[in-house]
Amino acid sequence: MTQLPSSAASIGIDLGGTKCAGVVLDPSGAVVARHRVPTPNGGDAIIAAIVATATGLRNQAHALGLGDIDHLGIGMPGLVTPNGNLRFAPHLFGVTEVPLTEMLRAQFDAAKSPFSVVNIENDNTAAAWAEFTSGAGKGVDDMVYVGFGTGIGGAAVVGGKLQRGRNGFAGELGHMVVDRNGDPCVCGRNGCWELYASGRGLAKLAGRPGPEITAAAHVGDEDAAEILRAFARNVALGLADLVAIYDPEVLVLGGGVMSPPEPLVGFIRTALPLTMGLGAFHRPIPNVVGAGLGGEGGAIGAARLALLI
Ligand SMILES: [Zn+2]
Repeated sequence: MTQLPSSAASIGIDLGGTKCAGVVLDPSGAVVARHRVPTPNGGDAIIAAIVATATGLRNQAHALGLGDIDHLGIGMPGLVTPNGNLRFAPHLFGVTEVPLTEMLRAQFDAAKSPFSVVNIENDNTAAAWAEFTSGAGKGVDDMVYVGFGTGIGGAAVVGGKLQRGRNGFAGELGHMVVDRNGDPCVCGRNGCWELYASGRGLAKLAGRPGPEITAAAHVGDEDAAEILRAFARNVALGLADLVAIYDPEVLVLGGGVMSPPEPLVGFIRTALPLTMGLGAFHRPIPNVVGAGLGGEGGAIGAARLALLI
């Protein structure tokens, strides 16, 4: 998994808790078309939303002269097996143990518009691959991507190789326990990192919606900045663990919570060495950077990974 994308066009879709957003990549890997619909509730409705998005993108690709696109990649928020079974997605209502690839293939076949490749990945794994190939991690060999949204997920690239794990489930970084006596998490454990460092964690800390805080701090509100400094310490706590595990050159921080990235990413950059213990004095501190591809990394990475299958 070190090769760069091949020279075919592809479609990538990122299915999040609120929106199903897709892109068409041309043979050079550039985004040339976009389409998005709201994420509905329930497995069947989600399948329908993916089919509608993929079909819309395929039609746009036709209009652009890219012909019939054969490769479809999808990023999903949860545990996805290499053969496309979505086993557990605690942030999607009513979705568990869904044979996604099989169901999607049946729908595309019924509509007489099959794809030769339908590849499903974890959404943050896909975003990590996009950041590694053309975003903030381009040009490094060892990188950890962390996506901060409703929950937290991510993936590591080690020696240029994307780490998927034995079952495709690697990178459930949000469920590292940072307080065993903490509140219950959607995953069934207590005190997971994402309870304190996700969008929900920020809202709980601030007592109001997280986007209000990041927007206010971005334009210089000092009270909001103080809340973000406290939040940055929660983020740094988990990042310090990732540094201990992976020794990366770069930590790429993406997801809605990191948009706009400043001043939060700067606060995290300051907090990280203070959280790393004595080792911070004896080792390089990884670069901490915001994602380079904004909210489109998941869809772009899914499209690129579909070309590698
Ligand atoms: Zn958890």
